[in-house]
Amino acid sequence: MTNNKKNFITPGCDKDGNLLGWRSVEIGAMVIDAGNSRLYETGSWRSEQPVWNANTCIDCMMCWLGCPDTAIIAKEGHMAGIDYFKCKGCEICVEQCPTKPNSLVMILEENAKDLSLEEKTEFAFGKEQK
Ligand code: SF4
Ligand code: SF4
Repeated sequence: MTNNKKNFITPGCDKDGNLLGWRSVEIGAMVIDAGNSRLYETGSWRSEQPVWNANTCIDCMMCWLGCPDTAIIAKEGHMAGIDYFKCKGCEICVEQCPTKPNSLVMILEENAKDLSLEEKTEFAFGKEQK
């Protein structure tokens, strides 16, 4: 397994993006550069991902407040989508969302594979709710 995004560091990979065996991973680590979390693809750990329905969203930003990985994208104070490079699929945003029906739902990663954002939205919410 390799990491094709060579400009980013993936935990457990060498500098060329090749996955290391567990014996090669160093025990313990020190974080010495502030703000370096943006370099790490925490999205690679995910088994499920949230999908956003912009049409039912009331822009309350509770998902943004709850997300531990800064994976909710905010533009000028408004909900603008999900950063799947950062999202690790913890589901906190879905739990935070107050709308009925929920404006964020989780789908399995295997179902999201190869789908465009529009197709994912249709898969998660159905055509009539988009
Ligand atoms: S699933 Fe977790 S990491 Fe992903 S956007 Fe929601 S709260 Fe953030
Ligand atoms: S919590 Fe739900 S309603 Fe609020 S901004 Fe996020 S998606 Fe929209």
